[in-house]
Amino acid sequence: MKKRTLFILATATLISCNTSKELTSTQQPCDEKERYNEFFTGNTMRFDFHHAGDSKQEFYYFDKVIREGEWAGSRVSLINPFDYGEQKFKIIDKATGEVIYKNNYCTLFNEWQTTPEANVTSRSFPEGVIFPEPIKDFSIEFYARNKQTKEWEKRYTQDICVSDYNIAPQKAQHECIDIHIGGDIAHSLDIVLLPDGFTAEEKEKFLGSCRMWSDALFSYAPFTENAHRINIRAVWAASKVRGVSKPGIGKWVDNLLGTRFYTLNSERYQMTEEFQKVRDIAASAPYESIFILTNTDKYGGGGIYNFYGLGSAGNTGRTGEVYVHEFGHSLMGLGDEYIEVGNTVSALYPAGKEPWEANLTRFVNFKGKWEDMIAADTPIPSTITEGSTEKDWVIGAYEGGAYLEKGIYRGWPECMMKALTDFCPICQRAIIHYLDYICK
Ligand SMILES: [Zn+2]
Repeated sequence: MKKRTLFILATATLISCNTSKELTSTQQPCDEKERYNEFFTGNTMRFDFHHAGDSKQEFYYFDKVIREGEWAGSRVSLINPFDYGEQKFKIIDKATGEVIYKNNYCTLFNEWQTTPEANVTSRSFPEGVIFPEPIKDFSIEFYARNKQTKEWEKRYTQDICVSDYNIAPQKAQHECIDIHIGGDIAHSLDIVLLPDGFTAEEKEKFLGSCRMWSDALFSYAPFTENAHRINIRAVWAASKVRGVSKPGIGKWVDNLLGTRFYTLNSERYQMTEEFQKVRDIAASAPYESIFILTNTDKYGGGGIYNFYGLGSAGNTGRTGEVYVHEFGHSLMGLGDEYIEVGNTVSALYPAGKEPWEANLTRFVNFKGKWEDMIAADTPIPSTITEGSTEKDWVIGAYEGGAYLEKGIYRGWPECMMKALTDFCPICQRAIIHYLDYICK
C-alpha cells in the first residue's frame, strides 16, 4: 500500500527562528536517569489540537491537555536525533528555556494538503502528541518543514501551567492484553494494537489477528533478533457495528475509531481521520507506536510515521507482509522503494530535494544514510545482471523508488518496502539504529 508522504507549505503565519537551548544526544548529562527524574513525573501527557488549513497555509488550534498512564518511552532518549518526518515538536522547560523533550512525526492533514480538494477548501483534522509529563510549567513548540527548502520552521507555541485545573484525566480504561512481552517498558519498543469494526462477540477474532500480526513482525529480520526488546499489547474495545466504512460504494459503518476506505479519495487507502479517538483507546496500554487492525477482508491500509499504521485483519492475501510493510512506515517513516512505471514527476519527492527517509536518496545529502555500506569498487548507479539472485547483489544505489523511475535511488534491488520481501540491508540497519535509540 502506498504511503502518503507529506508536505507543508511555506505560507504559515507563525515562522521564527528557534532560539531555545537543545541538548543533543551527545551532550546529555552523565546521569541521564537522574535528569529524567528531575524534569518528568513518570507519566504521560497528551496535547490535543486541531490542525487546519488548505494547500497554502496551516494553523494549529488548541483543544485540550490530558494526563495519561505510565510513560512507555525511554527515560534516556528524550531528544529524537533522527531528522525524519514533516513535523516535530519540542517541550521546553519554562524556568530554564531548555528543550527537555523532542520528537518527530507525520500526519494525515499534510497529505490532504497535497490533494486537489485542498486548493479549493479548508479543513481541520484532530491531532494529538504524547510526551513524558513535565513536573514544572513548560512550553510546547510545533515545527513543520518548509515545502521549498525542506528546512524546519516554527509554526506554533503554547505555554502550559502544570497546575491548570483544566488538564483532564485519561478517558475510560479498556482491557489491555499482552501479546508479546520482550522487556521492561523503559527499554523496549512498546507497540499497541487497536481493534476497529469488531463487535462484542468478536474479541477472540481480534486477538487471533493480534497474534498473527506479532508472528508476522517477528518472522522478519531485524525484528526476529530484537524480539527481546519489543512489547506488543492489544487493547480490547468493541464497536457497535461490524466492519469498516466504504464511502465510495455508499456503505457507512458507525465503528469505534472511524476507519474507512477511500481516504483522500483513494479506494484502498484505509485510515481514520479521528486520531484523537485512536489516542483515547490506545491510552489503555503503555505505548509508543500504534497499529490498528480492522475487521474487514478488503485489501488496504496505510502507515504514517509516528502517527499510526493500519491493516485489514480479514484479508486472506499477503496480510502478514502488508502489516510489516505498513509498520515500516509507521515505526520510522521508511519510504516506499517501489516504482510506478512511467512515473517521472512526483510532488511528494521533488527533484533537487533530498528525501528525509533513511532508505531513499537523490544524492543531494546522502551523508549519514548508507554511503559507508557501499564498497569503493561498486559502480553508481548500480545495476544487476538479468537472472542474478540475491547472493550476487551488492549494496549500491539502484535507480528507482518512491514511485519514480528516475532520479531517486535505493540501496538494494529488493526490499519489504518494495515488493514485500525481506527488508533490505539498508532498511535493516536503519531499523536497528532506531531501536537502539528507542530502547536505550
Ligand atoms: Zn529497504
